[in-house]
Amino acid sequence: MTWEQTKAARRAAGECILCRRPLAPGNKNFCPECRDRNNEYNRTYIRENWEKVKKMQYDRAKKLQREGKCTCCGKDRGNSGSELFCPKCLERNRQYESSRAESKKARYYTLRAAGLCTVCRKPSKKAVCDECRKK
Ligand SMILES: [Zn+2]
Ligand SMILES: [Zn+2]
Ligand SMILES: [Zn+2]
Repeated sequence: MTWEQTKAARRAAGECILCRRPLAPGNKNFCPECRDRNNEYNRTYIRENWEKVKKMQYDRAKKLQREGKCTCCGKDRGNSGSELFCPKCLERNRQYESSRAESKKARYYTLRAAGLCTVCRKPSKKAVCDECRKK
């Protein structure tokens, strides 16, 4: 039996696919312990293989883009008019981007009003203090 088949069989039996403990209702694939371990593993893997992971994500996005799919959720892009996202993800990204721009602007004005450098937050007459400007 391949690992894929083993996993499928354990999933069907309602067992944790790693330790074979019976799963509580609401748990999928992993028992809580194995899920934690698995998350930890994934985080470590991503941290240690960041370049590879980034490349994989890039390749995946390129492929989806070629196939006319959304690079975010993988669904058909439909008539979104975007080369990257389906209408749904496009809308979500737009909201995210604008809220990010808003909070950046808000931060800038708050710091200026308080007479602080917008980079290092030290007292400064200018938006960017002399020290930060030198960098
Ligand atoms: Zn388990
Ligand atoms: Zn999408
Ligand atoms: Zn500064």
